[in-house]
Amino acid sequence: MNKPIIESLEKIYSSIQNFPCKQCHKCCGPIIWFEPEELLIRDYLEKNKIKRIIWTKKQFEKNHMRCPYLIDDRCIIYPVRPIVCRLQGNISELICMSSNNGTLTSKKELNKIREEFVELIRQTNSMNIFYSTLKL
Ligand code: SF4
Ligand code: SF4
Repeated sequence: MNKPIIESLEKIYSSIQNFPCKQCHKCCGPIIWFEPEELLIRDYLEKNKIKRIIWTKKQFEKNHMRCPYLIDDRCIIYPVRPIVCRLQGNISELICMSSNNGTLTSKKELNKIREEFVELIRQTNSMNIFYSTLKL
């Protein structure tokens, strides 16, 4: 695992405000993550002997479009969930469907998060690489 990349990624994650999530999982559908996140997720999957899950469109439809990592109403990769899951409820593009108790992240904060994240992707030389739970 690339320690400096992981540390930078965790720093970005920790700068995202904690949304008062009710854990209803209504927002847990097909997701994507990027190379720096893949390093963290891959390591977590290996350490916890969790099989990588990538579904086809058909499998998603059969499972009512829920995220494949939502098992028995619990996110099995929660400690390493990608940035898209962490931003849920915090930004206008990813509004929470169950609660509006949170204050949205300001444009300025979001831009800072975006810039740091893009820089991290650039450092891993993987601008075009992303991983998805959906088989394209
Ligand atoms: S819809 Fe809102 S409350 Fe439900 S899991 Fe997503 S962020 Fe949390
Ligand atoms: S990774 Fe976890 S938090 Fe993110 S969509 Fe899947 S189940 Fe929900």
